[in-house]
Parts: sequence; C-alpha cells; structure tokens
Amino acid sequence: MKFKNLDCTIKIKPFFIVIFTWGFLAYMAFQYHCQHKQLRDSIKIYDTNIKLYQDKLDEVIEQHNKMFDVCDSLIQIMDELPLGSPLDTLEISSNYGSRKNRETQKWEYHPGMDFSADWRDTVYATGAGIIEKSGHISGYGRTIVISHTSGYKSKYAHLTRYFVRRGDTVKRGDPIGTAGNTGYSRGYHLHYEVMRVHNGYNKIANPKEYIIL
Ligand SMILES: [Zn+2]
Repeated sequence: MKFKNLDCTIKIKPFFIVIFTWGFLAYMAFQYHCQHKQLRDSIKIYDTNIKLYQDKLDEVIEQHNKMFDVCDSLIQIMDELPLGSPLDTLEISSNYGSRKNRETQKWEYHPGMDFSADWRDTVYATGAGIIEKSGHISGYGRTIVISHTSGYKSKYAHLTRYFVRRGDTVKRGDPIGTAGNTGYSRGYHLHYEVMRVHNGYNKIANPKEYIIL
C-alpha cells in the first residue's frame, strides 16, 4: 500500500507542475502583451509629440528667417540713407536755417550745414546711392548730388575736385571729391545738404538730424 500511495503522489506531481508551468507562461505572456501594448501606446504618444515639436520648431525657424529678412532689409535701407559723415572731421562753421548775411546784413535761409575744410580734404558719400549730378550749379559751384533710397538726396557743394561721374554707384564712405571754394563761397569749406523728394517737391531737412554714423 505504501508503494501504491507513493506512485499516486508521483503521478499527481507532474500534472501540477505542467499546470503551474502553463499557468505561469500564460501569465507571463499576458504581462508581456500588456507591457507591449503600453509600450506601443507610449511610442505612439512619443511620435505624436515629436511631430508636434518638429512642427513647432519649423514654425520658429520660419519666424526667425522672416525676422532675419526684415533685419537685412532694414540694414540695407540704413546703408542707403544719408546717415554718414561727409568729412573725416566735422567742425561746423554754419548751421542749417536762418542766418544773417555778413555783407548785406539781411536774414537769409541757409539750406544746409557748412563744415570747415580745405581743398585737400576728402569728401565722402554719406550713404549708398547713385550720382545724380557731378558738375557746376550756380551759386553752389562744383557740386555732387547723390540719389539715395526712398527719395532721399544728399548734396556736397563748393568742391575742388570730383572723383565720380553722373550714373556712378557709390557706397557709404566712398571718396567722391575734395572740399573747395567754388561758387558763392567765402573761403574753403564744405556745404552739405540733405533733402527728400516728396510729392514731386524737394523737401530740405536739417542735416544735423541725419548724421548719426
Ligand atoms: Zn552753406
């Protein structure tokens, strides 16, 4: 009897072991399935977020590129406006506006600024543009007029020499001539004007407001 009972115990054990093993494997398979599903969902969310970030990044890059384009346009406009200095050293000898004529003792309108200079002093373009005039103008003597962007013009008068001709393109700081004493002038100096053509009229401005560079 003892042996019989022992046989029964021996037969029952493998059955439980098989059941337990299958159960464990099924449990593990279920766990794996759940974790796999969780992982797939996480990857899906991650992919969606990556796409959102990518779209956002593209948007930011596009906005930055637009900003750089605006900056480039502004820099170009700044380069083309008469904002520079027409001489290496600016020593004002007469301001823009009303002034008393020493000879006639009458008040007169001075449409520009006068700077002390002699015939050796180089005169520079105050902004990029095209030479509109390089020749004699009554009263102004030897004169250069540069046409800039947005209807702006700069005028350099009483010169001795010209380095540019009509139609030439210049950049800010390019030498365009030398100062002088030609035209209606009492001594060597540079007469400098800034104006803007608006509705077909030349509107003359105070150059002091423009010389910033
Ligand atoms: Zn003057």
